Amino acid sequence: MRYEGQIYRPPSEAYSYILQVTVGCSHNACTFCNMYADKQFHIRKLSEILEDLQMARRAYRYVERIFLADGDALIVRTETLLEILRTIRRLFPECARITSYASARDLLLKTPGELALLQKNGLDMVYLGLESGSERILKAINKGVTVEETVQACAKAKDAGIRLSITQITGLAGQDGMEENASESAKALSRINPEYIGIMTLTLRRGTPMTKDFEEGRFKRLTPKQIVEEMRMLVAGMDSEGSVLRSNHISNYVQLCGTMNRDKSIMLEQLDLALASGRLENEYISYLENL
Ligand code: SF4
Repeated sequence: MRYEGQIYRPPSEAYSYILQVTVGCSHNACTFCNMYADKQFHIRKLSEILEDLQMARRAYRYVERIFLADGDALIVRTETLLEILRTIRRLFPECARITSYASARDLLLKTPGELALLQKNGLDMVYLGLESGSERILKAINKGVTVEETVQACAKAKDAGIRLSITQITGLAGQDGMEENASESAKALSRINPEYIGIMTLTLRRGTPMTKDFEEGRFKRLTPKQIVEEMRMLVAGMDSEGSVLRSNHISNYVQLCGTMNRDKSIMLEQLDLALASGRLENEYISYLENL
């Protein structure tokens, strides 16, 4: 178990063994993100990855979940991924779930047959950042893919039986794009209809182009109250039957957890209660902003 640089994983992978398959993110250019800014993207040698798995087997008696890091492990050639997945199955027969981050581009580059093979060999779910459902906002943040490409990529993963966990970022378009971010994201998430939806709040991170825009007055970030108002518009506009919706990331002001559409009215009530509480007025997430 050897790691290069800072390792990130979704909140729901807190107890997973993390296997670094790639280092960094192949795109590494979204204006709000500095997660992998210090890493030169590369794919790790297969021999090192397989050695890490042997080391993990010796160190851990029971591994229920494995997460393939870093930013977009699915960029790796299918044959190599299959060898990793088959080794996991052989060494960790108790492992019930293998997941990874994926970009829309990675998914679009694989054939339906390749995705089905990956699923058959244990790739259960991918985490994909939609960020926003607005084409204009995705262009502004330099996401590198369109909403249409993301919707197509998600449909392809679903057809292969790979479950989806999709994240959306509230506050991403600042005060001028609040309604657009909420309503367009609600539409895109409803079209994708993933198993899981994760709502995060924009955090201004050190050294990013978005933070520079904020410091120089070009980006007006939302107040905590506006963040919750945007979340409310997003949840109200969504029609995604069966999707489990969570806002359990450290960046969120209100923690929601429910199943759409069944729990939609309860989640809206929770957001209304938070808005009426008067406690959001001055609660900027300052402790995260030095990251
Ligand atoms: S948000 Fe995702 S795709 Fe964009 S630079 Fe960060 S890790 Fe890469």
